[in-house]
Amino acid sequence: PLIGELDEAHWPRKYPACEGNRQSPIDLQTKKVHYKPSMKALSLVGYEAQAGEFSMTNNGHTVQISLPSTMRMTAPDGTQYVAQQMHFHWGGAYSEISGSEHTIDGVRYVTEVHVVHYNSKYQSYDEAQTAPDGLAVLAALFEVRDYAENTYYSNFISHLKDIRYPGQSTVLSDLDLQDMLPENLHSYYSYWGSLTTPPCTENVHWFVLADTVKLSRTQVWKLQNSLLNHQNKTIHNDYRRTQPLNHRVVEANFKFLPNSELHFYLNNIDNNLEYLRRFIEQKKAKGKRPW
Ligand SMILES: [Zn+2]
Repeated sequence: PLIGELDEAHWPRKYPACEGNRQSPIDLQTKKVHYKPSMKALSLVGYEAQAGEFSMTNNGHTVQISLPSTMRMTAPDGTQYVAQQMHFHWGGAYSEISGSEHTIDGVRYVTEVHVVHYNSKYQSYDEAQTAPDGLAVLAALFEVRDYAENTYYSNFISHLKDIRYPGQSTVLSDLDLQDMLPENLHSYYSYWGSLTTPPCTENVHWFVLADTVKLSRTQVWKLQNSLLNHQNKTIHNDYRRTQPLNHRVVEANFKFLPNSELHFYLNNIDNNLEYLRRFIEQKKAKGKRPW
């Protein structure tokens, strides 16, 4: 994507960290992930329903929601992080529906949400953003469920039309981030990386949830087509391409991959093929053509 006047390939010219060796996003290769069952679930405080006013802004690259400092996340190593903002990455260009930043075994998901936090030992996000242990991002990937509207997203999506132009803001009253995240908050991938936009600072502890959020096709379409950028074009494909893992290790606290649904479908196809094979053999045995 274009940030300021620079496209992604030229970010390092102005922001040297963007060509460092601990960059994000990455492709999460499930066969190379280190299984670490001792890694505890993240502790999320204040993520459930919060009354108040949360500003929601079109910043020209994405929609960003400001989060209250009462929202906290404790990492398995005990580090406490304070929530700062959340934003989304999506596709939509050339009828390409997928636009997540992290991919899993090369598969790009429809959307990705980033809940950005800073280390509570610093006074503010500004102070933390340059510190080597400054930031943590909780990420979740999205899938399409054709017809079922995800009502936890209705309020957020209905406000997108109010912030069509960059710089516009609106206010969300009531925010329940827990409902907007996947059901299973226990299983996640974890690795050390960077911000995925300039200045690409390599100080981010990433936590990518294994379970996904489901949205309807209409909801995804609205997310992809509601906002304009500074060039007056619809914001599409606001994701960075995946970066080399180099010598880093991705850890996960779960062993079985979350695509049990894929297995279910593959199993179904298997069963159907088996049925067809038997059907053809029966017909053959009777000396008839199967069709
Ligand atoms: Zn992001």
